[in-house]
Amino acid sequence: MTRGHVGLGSNLEDTRRQIGRAFDALAALPGSVLVARSSLYRSAPMGPADQPDYLNAVAVLDTRLSPLTLLDALQEIERAQRRVRGRRWGPRTLDLDLLLYGNRQIDLPRLQVPHPGMHQRCFVLLPLWEVAGDIEIPDRGRVSTLLSCCGPPAAYRLDD
Ligand code: ATP
Ligand code: CA
Ligand code: CA
Repeated sequence: MTRGHVGLGSNLEDTRRQIGRAFDALAALPGSVLVARSSLYRSAPMGPADQPDYLNAVAVLDTRLSPLTLLDALQEIERAQRRVRGRRWGPRTLDLDLLLYGNRQIDLPRLQVPHPGMHQRCFVLLPLWEVAGDIEIPDRGRVSTLLSCCGPPAAYRLDD
């Protein structure tokens, strides 16, 4: 098994339910065990500002799926939750990003791991810290160091 970390995001159509359904779908993936679900965090949209705020979370998944098979599975879950692809960084019911896959570094046209940009995004780093602690992001450094640019988690974290 390899430990993977998946970033979840939603800013359309009952975002809490979207994230909850996505966690359940991750838990049901073959050859995989969902080890942890982070709390929910709120963030302002990246890119186009004329869209609702996002709800974000991170999942810890132990899996026997290869990185590309896992990416296929993540995209299938997005499709099942009716994600429509529009403009870049536009609104979506569900976005699943493969943040980390063990300590592997992957640079394929369809898949880059660690996910590019994750180390600069507080809405990724804060939930990642919650479920994975001070792990090392290959070539980018420790989460605690990267987190020093973010405000306190309370500014993002939602009450249950
Ligand atoms: P960003 O990747 O900056 O967070 P986004 O999530 O809005 O933006 P998408 O439209 O969801 O981008 O994905 C575009 C493409 O990114 C996908 O078709 C996929 O092949 C590719 N991709 C590359 N690396 C990854 C990864 N680690 N996880 C998910 N998709 C990835
Ligand atoms: Ca994304
Ligand atoms: Ca994505």
